Amino acid sequence: MGIIAARLRELGLEPREAVGGTGVVAVFDTGRPGVTVMARADMDALPVTEENDVEYRSRVPGKMHACGHDGHVAVLLSVVEIVLARAAQLAGRVVFVFQPAEEIVRGARAMLEDGALDGLDVDHVIGLHLSSNHEVGTVAVREGPAMAATDSFRLVVKGRGGHAAYPHACIDPIVAASQVVLSLQTLVSRETDPIDQSVISITSFHGGTAFNIIPEEVELKGTLRTFDAGTRARLRARILEVAEATAKLLRCSLEQEWSEGTPAVVNDPTSVERFRKVAAQVVGDENVTLQAPIMGGDDMALWLSQARGCYFFVGTSSGPDTSWAHHHPRFDVDERGLEVAVALLASGVADLMGGD
Ligand SMILES: [Zn+2]
Ligand SMILES: [Zn+2]
Repeated sequence: MGIIAARLRELGLEPREAVGGTGVVAVFDTGRPGVTVMARADMDALPVTEENDVEYRSRVPGKMHACGHDGHVAVLLSVVEIVLARAAQLAGRVVFVFQPAEEIVRGARAMLEDGALDGLDVDHVIGLHLSSNHEVGTVAVREGPAMAATDSFRLVVKGRGGHAAYPHACIDPIVAASQVVLSLQTLVSRETDPIDQSVISITSFHGGTAFNIIPEEVELKGTLRTFDAGTRARLRARILEVAEATAKLLRCSLEQEWSEGTPAVVNDPTSVERFRKVAAQVVGDENVTLQAPIMGGDDMALWLSQARGCYFFVGTSSGPDTSWAHHHPRFDVDERGLEVAVALLASGVADLMGGD
């Protein structure tokens, strides 16, 4: 936050710091009437120890920019410079947003609650994610739902513990919880239109201490990923209903906790169409590709719910060293991808502000 704010000040802006934690917001007004464009970069790292042997590797064990958000910060700071340099050809305002805590999907919400956009009347939102899944020199974008809504839940199946040799004297939560897991797997496969992508994954199953003890309870954790808001609400209700009924069928009770994550990232079709034209000029028509829907989430969704906009992916892969998955200890980017990202974002912003 300090480095970003200092750089913005050096460039002549007056950033607001500590927005929603460590967020930074800076507004640049051209002084000419026009639209207000918001450009966002997330900036958080991950609890990963870097395994790359490069001079710019993380110096903090257990902390690494394994998703490329450090690149997002560098790109947006460069875009600030370009926008300021081109100010004479632009109209309206730009709001530069540097957001913390994307990985734990809290940052955007915290910044909005702290009034990051209050009184700014944003017309367009734009942002990007670097991508090791795409080649350097390419950009991928999708109109409509592009990234999934992400919710998580915790279910505790409660029985009655006792001796493993006397199950009839107990209420076994292990068997009941196993049945809950299987029942939940029918909600997507049997109750949801196959065209409407969604996923329910149970990712944690904990209970018991020894081979000869039936435990009191089993704790399950999982996640729901959806694109359609109606499907999201329906599956949430059905997960809780089916888990409760299944537990009850096997004489257990159920405790449930639902943790609402972010909605789906939905790109406005007209914004995407406009961006595609700009991108074609930057990287060539053949390098503007259609992004497949992503089951992962991003709290860019909350900024995109403030105004229409476009979130796109910029390729940073050019070989084995730069093809590691995001969040992997060897994740790295081909920095030529950063230059492409700067050109794309600066051109996207300038296009919305009536510049060239
Ligand atoms: Zn990530
Ligand atoms: Zn990320």
